[in-house]
Amino acid sequence: MADYDYDLYVIGGGSGGVRAARVSAQLGARVALAEERYLGGTCVNVGCVPKKLFVYASHFGEDFGDARGFGWNHAGGEFEWPQLRDNKDREISRLNGVYGKLLDNAGVTVHEGTARLVDGHTVEINGRKVTAANILLATGCWPWAPEFPGSEHVISSNEVFHLERFPERAVVVGGGYIAVEFAGIFAGLGVETHLVYRRDLFLRGFDDDVRRFAADECRKKHINLHFSNDITRIEKQGDTLVSHLKDGETLATDLVMYATGRRAKIDGLGLEAAGVATRDDGAIVVDDDYRTSVASVYALGDVIGRIELTPVALAEGMALAHNLFGENGGEPRRVDYENIPTTVFCQPNLGTVGLTEAEARERHGELRIYRSEFRAMKHTLSGRDERTLMKMIVDHASDRVVGVHMAGADAGEIIQGIAVAMRAGATKATFDSTIGIHPTAAEEFVTMREPVSGPGAS
Ligand code: FAD
Ligand code: NDP
Repeated sequence: MADYDYDLYVIGGGSGGVRAARVSAQLGARVALAEERYLGGTCVNVGCVPKKLFVYASHFGEDFGDARGFGWNHAGGEFEWPQLRDNKDREISRLNGVYGKLLDNAGVTVHEGTARLVDGHTVEINGRKVTAANILLATGCWPWAPEFPGSEHVISSNEVFHLERFPERAVVVGGGYIAVEFAGIFAGLGVETHLVYRRDLFLRGFDDDVRRFAADECRKKHINLHFSNDITRIEKQGDTLVSHLKDGETLATDLVMYATGRRAKIDGLGLEAAGVATRDDGAIVVDDDYRTSVASVYALGDVIGRIELTPVALAEGMALAHNLFGENGGEPRRVDYENIPTTVFCQPNLGTVGLTEAEARERHGELRIYRSEFRAMKHTLSGRDERTLMKMIVDHASDRVVGVHMAGADAGEIIQGIAVAMRAGATKATFDSTIGIHPTAAEEFVTMREPVSGPGAS
């Protein structure tokens, strides 16, 4: 490897790239990383972190109302958007610095600028050519929105974090994670909120029961759901955007945000010239060990179009570093894509791990379904009409728990623990023999005894 400038050159300083660079350097490799925009990538700058801070902010409106039932009569006040935005920016700057230090301490050389692949061992950055034994493409994804008359007026999740003026009325288009989370954020911050989604129920891919439940909870929180609908054109009238919907309705708002998916960020990356194969949607094609069609070039994270989640990009980066520079005893480290837990941070949270009921019916024989829906204890005094849903899907023959879903406060925190149990192969009997923590909502997962369908259901 000594003939090259570096053992590994990483393009992209987001979740996957930073992890791969840092761990490789810690394993003794000579590593450089190029970042054109911001260290920490999407997650830190325009993704998970600022989004979660906004989710916290959006809860306070309800919390102040709920507090009255507990004797706090003067809670609350005005929401100041600039204060939230600027405090968030300060925290993000701090995190950018932390990422820089992590790389520096590990001995990774950071190049600020846009990098391009020249060939399997050469990268061009800031007009300079650098060589490496291995090159990693971890350039992530970029928001994508359809084009139509007036689409120049819409924003994406990239811009929503830096708005000069906060809207009083907003439309969010899409039915995936970002659309549902931002509809919750806007509504929680007092914005008249509309969500427009092209099919009949949002969050395709999640358990149908949870999807219906989430729609009901969104409506209770005054999110106007326009399903089986789409925007056909947008007219700008002064500061107002008038969205014309397929069904003839018009929505006058201050902001229209499209959250219609993200595409691999590969423009100008030099893939074609270097011979790196991509799918039709632009995602880079890799094998089980993240090797592209060029033997010395690897890719991972969002840009490979598998599962677009930070912990997945981190796990992939870790696996690659160990495979390239670690001692794995000849066995490659591989990421297990089964049972990856995930949460939509809407209100209430939707946490999920394992199979949906529909998937389990396809993969397994007979199932037992356990389901509990209730009003959380907090709301007996707050008076809020928010419900919690818990659902467990059990393969009857083996008693293995194959799917767990929750809609409720802190579902993300709860499902993380359940995911560990599922990886350890927990059966329903394991859950039943676990002592609960009282009084919590989570204890419901170890006390659900009667299936609502399957053998034993009454
Ligand atoms: P990225 O983090 O996107 O990093 C890619 C980096 O490469 C970027 O910094 C980019 O500037 C840089 N780059 C690109 N091209 C070049 C080039 N040619 N030269 C130099 N640098 C380049 N995931 C979760 O798990 N939980 C969440 O709650 C969550 N919330 C999200 C909310 C939003 C609004 C969004 C958009 C995403 C969210 N995600 C969440 C997804 C998560 O952010 C991504 O899965 C994760 O960031 C992917 O990491 P990555 O390393 O593949 O790419
Ligand atoms: P998603 O792929 O999750 O959702 C895209 C949505 O846009 C879908 O509902 C899709 O509809 C709809 N859509 C696609 N094309 C069109 C079109 N032409 N017209 C109208 N609607 C369209 O993407 P997001 O942008 O929401 O998020 C990207 C990824 O980032 C997520 O998949 C997730 O992996 C990650 N993320 C994770 C979060 C978390 O962990 N909490 C939070 C935010 C993002 P249809 O269902 O019909 O395909």
